[in-house]
Amino acid sequence: MSDIQSQIQQNLDTVRAKISKQASLFDRASEDIHLVAVSKKQPLERVQAMLACGQRLFGENRVQEAHERWADFRGEYTDLTLHLIGPLQTNKVKEAVALFDVIETVDRPKLAKALAAEMKKQDKNLPCYVQVNTGEEEQKAGVLPHELEALLEVCKNEGLVITGLMCIPPQDEPAALHFAFLQKLAQEQGLQNLSMGMSGDFEKAIPLGATHVRVGTALFGERAPQ
Ligand SMILES: *Cc1c(COP(=O)(O)O)cnc(C)c1O
Repeated sequence: MSDIQSQIQQNLDTVRAKISKQASLFDRASEDIHLVAVSKKQPLERVQAMLACGQRLFGENRVQEAHERWADFRGEYTDLTLHLIGPLQTNKVKEAVALFDVIETVDRPKLAKALAAEMKKQDKNLPCYVQVNTGEEEQKAGVLPHELEALLEVCKNEGLVITGLMCIPPQDEPAALHFAFLQKLAQEQGLQNLSMGMSGDFEKAIPLGATHVRVGTALFGERAPQ
């Protein structure tokens, strides 16, 4: 086994063990907590090593970068699942619908409409999540909490299937508060999936109902600089 391969395997084992431990501590089934390996800006060899370890669920935050990387792997690994976890521009909707299995970042009516129309064209019905800007941060994507219900109504009318919520808590606030808030919103709206928790805080998201944790650096190591 190469050095990279054994390092990635070790990281994966460590993260999975933490997920299992939290699941059992908080009386959850570990199968209900899906590990989304965030491969953005990671060197190809690390992604290949992760695939060799058997990981099949990945997250990317940019459509173009994801396309360059995953279009070929799609042919090679038929059981891949790809989540879009970054902001989506309407001019990239066509490519996003063609490539991804789940869009986690629906956050405005215009995007919901564009996605619904494109899915009809491509004869697809991808499950989507709504990204909620739980910290109401100006620079951050996501719908404001008080606008969530109206957005869900638009999605419903357009035929866009929303199965969950996603959030990225503010850096300088306790993540658990935001996870608890997102959980409450999902319960109110009857939504099943909760995408929350990253390398630094995924263990805190598990007691609060995370079904998908999005982990990058703890699995792959540091990303290439911007
Ligand atoms: C980059 C990214 C992650 C992963 O972050 P790490 O801290 O490396 O685990 C998770 N979610 C989103 C939306 C991201 O952009």
